[in-house]
Amino acid sequence: MPTMRDFSTDHRWLSINTATVRKQRGVDWPLLDILDACAERGIRAVSPWRDQVASAGLRATAARLRAHGQVLSGYCRGGMFTYSDEAGRQAARDDNRRALDEACELAAPCLVLVVGGLPGALAGQAAHRDIAGAREQVAQGVAELLADARERSMPLAIEPLHPMYAAERACINTLEQALDLCDTLDPQSDGAIGVAVDAYHVWWDPKLQQQIERAGRTKRLLALHVCDWLTPTTDLLNDRGMMGDGVIDLPRLRGWMEAQGYAGFSEVEIFSHRWWALSGAEVLDTCVDRHRRCV
Ligand code: ZN
Repeated sequence: MPTMRDFSTDHRWLSINTATVRKQRGVDWPLLDILDACAERGIRAVSPWRDQVASAGLRATAARLRAHGQVLSGYCRGGMFTYSDEAGRQAARDDNRRALDEACELAAPCLVLVVGGLPGALAGQAAHRDIAGAREQVAQGVAELLADARERSMPLAIEPLHPMYAAERACINTLEQALDLCDTLDPQSDGAIGVAVDAYHVWWDPKLQQQIERAGRTKRLLALHVCDWLTPTTDLLNDRGMMGDGVIDLPRLRGWMEAQGYAGFSEVEIFSHRWWALSGAEVLDTCVDRHRRCV
């Protein structure tokens, strides 16, 4: 078993998911400024969101990344495959193709997929109660996108979301479920599709270690997202904890990943009213410190 990487003396494997500092004290922090602030701290990788890239401009974002020598640990995000009519199906397909093209332009290592829940639920009115049907639409949507992704040599990373998000955001809720879909669509496991393991979503799963080992065997570990689970959690979406402030055993999770050969970034992804209330500099400095001590 390979020795786990030592994160305590530097932060070269730290990546910042830019939603972590998207809006500080009520003011949008422009993506290019976030990249600058990361570069000042020796942060070599980021995972930006599409809306942030759209605001900054795709070309300008790519240029700034190059200027700083920064890379992506993933691109957030594609997915939302579920639909209630043909127009919805086509819109999802077209939008995902655009996401793939953007990921290529930014030289992302993978396009992260949040697959969608019951159609309409995110907007407040679910079109039906058929979650099995939604899962079938997801399987079809991912299959279709996989063909486009292969053409572009852009890996797809399915991110299972915690079951509390099954209705609105993603009806793939465990690593096992995500890997079952990967195995169905890509039985040869040629690197075109895998999973993003987000500690917040999967830490509770009794099959977590077993499924990480399975993902390792089939070379599907494409990303590791870290934050923490607070007790109590006061907001289901925007109360993620800073690493070390909650109950997730992050070193153990990272150890399981690395035992399977994962050698990529650990991407800090924190959606939190608490942390958005501070200055971006303070949040980034804390991420560096906690990444060294708690991941
Ligand atoms: Zn994530």
